[in-house]
Amino acid sequence: MATQALRVGGFTRMTTIDYPDHLAAVVFCQGCPLRCHYCHNPELLPRRSDEPLAWSGILDFLAARRGLLDAVVFSGGEPTLQRSLAQAVTEVKAMGYLIGLHTAGIYPERLQRLLPLVDWVGLDIKALAQDYPPLTGVPCGGESAWRSARLLVASGVPHEIRTTLYPAIDNEDYRNRLRGALAALGEHIHNWQPCREPPGNQPDHGRSKNQISFY
Ligand code: SF4
Repeated sequence: MATQALRVGGFTRMTTIDYPDHLAAVVFCQGCPLRCHYCHNPELLPRRSDEPLAWSGILDFLAARRGLLDAVVFSGGEPTLQRSLAQAVTEVKAMGYLIGLHTAGIYPERLQRLLPLVDWVGLDIKALAQDYPPLTGVPCGGESAWRSARLLVASGVPHEIRTTLYPAIDNEDYRNRLRGALAALGEHIHNWQPCREPPGNQPDHGRSKNQISFY
């Protein structure tokens, strides 16, 4: 059975900030099962877009940019939601590009299968595992994300683990506990990202961010 083409909701032709020290294009994969309060890409959350970009057109663009771009980053949405991601990665890798992956790590088995294909991973760890539901708007995901962190650290694939400093976790005790949990996995480099207000179209979970507190 032929693999379904990757569903793409957006594409950045060139960026200097999405793959460390390299010029990259970014493929924004359509669909994400989480509903983070601070999500800045609400149009990428549904599994299907009203205005999808053709994967074949992106491949044509990348073929024409060989030698001008270094890397292609698969971002989202949640790229690992789509089973066709591995095939898409393989196609782009065959053109000679470095492969970057931005993921929330909620499908650890899929991430594990992708790790031999990718050159760099940016993994979002949103909170301690038990604190995911109020942040992400869904009842699960934390245990899976932390399993992905364990797999990624053990893999030796170059990566960055980062956490958005949502107000509910932005206090010294929580930050220390989260970093301690990462250190227990062997991860000693971790970045905090500032929490920017979303553009006003973020998922509504029935309570304001000020009602979420872990301390
Ligand atoms: S993981 Fe959260 S922030 Fe990222 S696309 Fe999904 S809902 Fe948005």
